[in-house]
Amino acid sequence: MALRIALFFLLLGFSSGEEFYGFREASTFLAAKKYDYIIIGGGTAGCPLAATLSKNFSVLVLERGGAPYGNVNVSFMQNFHISLADTSPASASQAFVSTDGVINARARVLGGGTAINAGFYTRANPSFVTRAGWEEELVNESYLWVEKQIVHLPELAKWQEALRDGLLEAGVSPFNGFTYDHLYGTKVGGTIFDKDGYRHTAADLLAAGNPSNLHVLVHATVQRIVFDRRGGRLRAVGVNFKDEQGTLHKASLNGNAKSEVILSAGAIGSPQILLLSGIGPKSDLKKLRIPVVLHNEFVGMGMSDNPMNTVFIPSKKPVEQSLIQTVGITKGGVFIEASSGFGQSSDSIKLHHGILSAEIGQISTLPPKQRTREAIRAFMNGKKELPREAFQGGFLLEKIAGPLSRGHLTLVNRDADANPAVTFNYFKHPHDLRRCVYGVRTMIKIARTKHYADLALDDVSAQKLLNVTAKANVNLIPRHPNDTTSLEQFCRDTVITIWHYHGGCHVGQVVDSSYLVLGVNRLRIVDGSTFPASPGTNPQGTVMMMGRYMGVKMLRERLGRETTR
Ligand code: FAD
Repeated sequence: MALRIALFFLLLGFSSGEEFYGFREASTFLAAKKYDYIIIGGGTAGCPLAATLSKNFSVLVLERGGAPYGNVNVSFMQNFHISLADTSPASASQAFVSTDGVINARARVLGGGTAINAGFYTRANPSFVTRAGWEEELVNESYLWVEKQIVHLPELAKWQEALRDGLLEAGVSPFNGFTYDHLYGTKVGGTIFDKDGYRHTAADLLAAGNPSNLHVLVHATVQRIVFDRRGGRLRAVGVNFKDEQGTLHKASLNGNAKSEVILSAGAIGSPQILLLSGIGPKSDLKKLRIPVVLHNEFVGMGMSDNPMNTVFIPSKKPVEQSLIQTVGITKGGVFIEASSGFGQSSDSIKLHHGILSAEIGQISTLPPKQRTREAIRAFMNGKKELPREAFQGGFLLEKIAGPLSRGHLTLVNRDADANPAVTFNYFKHPHDLRRCVYGVRTMIKIARTKHYADLALDDVSAQKLLNVTAKANVNLIPRHPNDTTSLEQFCRDTVITIWHYHGGCHVGQVVDSSYLVLGVNRLRIVDGSTFPASPGTNPQGTVMMMGRYMGVKMLRERLGRETTR
């Protein structure tokens, strides 16, 4: 019923919450206006940053995707996986496959990752804040600013209650109740989905901005940053972007020495745009005939993705769909979460989105070696005929905290719309593999507690759980015969992503501690590409907080502390 009401309002052009409708199509751009700030990427960090800076300064936001409002794939929790499965050019989610063979996704929509993610909201570990050198008081104020606007208390689904109780029985204690704080033990966190399953995104935070100073363009794909060397010092002066019709425009900063271009294009987008603009390893840029503006061997280096491995539990009856609501923060360097019920509609059954998809059910007919993308597509078509019960169940999932394995990002061409090549080197570091094994053992323990036994199809021996998971798991990694007898091999062969990739523009290598790009004036990066690790159990809260935090810091630096009170 709630869904029908929300749909009704959507069709009428209304919806719940403080939504921001002050965006325009990129082709309406007027080149004569010059800006104090040009923000590349209207995503998780870009939106709160833009809203904050617009209080006192003119801000232009250039977002390559469309609006989240009126897009049912974005707005409704039920469509989480349908949105990821949409590979059309207009999709809010752009699929990519890392060179490791793991299917992944990056946002392409106003609101960024918050418009396609699983919604779980939590804060960073205090040690992350200390290590970043952030001011604790302003960090707390900035989290609160976000939470008041878009974060909700979840109504726990049965699958999530079972995880809560199973974690406690497996020794992941104490129970910390509902909290945003990062505490050892088991907790329930916040969510950006409201009680009707309606998603509130970072784009909603734009409504807190000053409308007369805030200009947001959608379908504006930045091609490169424009520089000037007059006076002997390299400085950003504007950006080139393409509108929805493919016409090229130049947006310019005004003459103020403090005006800035700010990259908030995410962990894939920000290093990609720096490279396209000629900032990066000289030899790589030359290979693609990109004029070298500034040699920096570290751009795109140190990329990380937290590996995720799952245990699938087939269920007796259909289970309610749930995304992440409960988390176990273990002392073994692993976070345990859960999701359930992806086969609830015929739409979800026919779709494939790489992981956690409906075909990861009891029936997986593809031998591992044949799991090419084409074969998966053929399987998708065939499975429309399968009985609904084949898709019942849910997952336990584990994420390695702070992987020590590192990878890199390089351009494959000069096309800003294309994905760069990204390598994460999952489990290259032995400590990551050890933690994965610990996580799988813990998940099996939880799956075998009475809390899941009540929901599960039949008796779940460890071997059965590993078999069903390994058989059904979707990635493009070659399988080994011992993938269910060796937990190390299980981890390697069934690794997927939790989409918390980060790095590529590290502090001290690409940016300084204020996130200003080294060797260039008036250019800054504010997003997860600067993170040494993924904050908290799930990063979106801290990425939004960072946008607000940096906005307030920058206003204070220009105008004095009192202006932001
Ligand atoms: P983004 O939010 O991706 O912002 C970058 C923006 O820049 C995008 O809107 C993009 O379109 C735009 N852009 C890129 N290139 C250009 C260009 N050339 N020109 C113009 N614009 C450009 N985190 C959680 O905390 N909880 C969860 O439950 C959770 N689940 C997830 C599930 C999925 C499927 C995904 C993908 C992520 C999930 N995350 C979750 C992670 C979290 O959403 C991301 O870490 C975070 O949103 C990334 O923020 P960002 O600002 O770095 O990038």
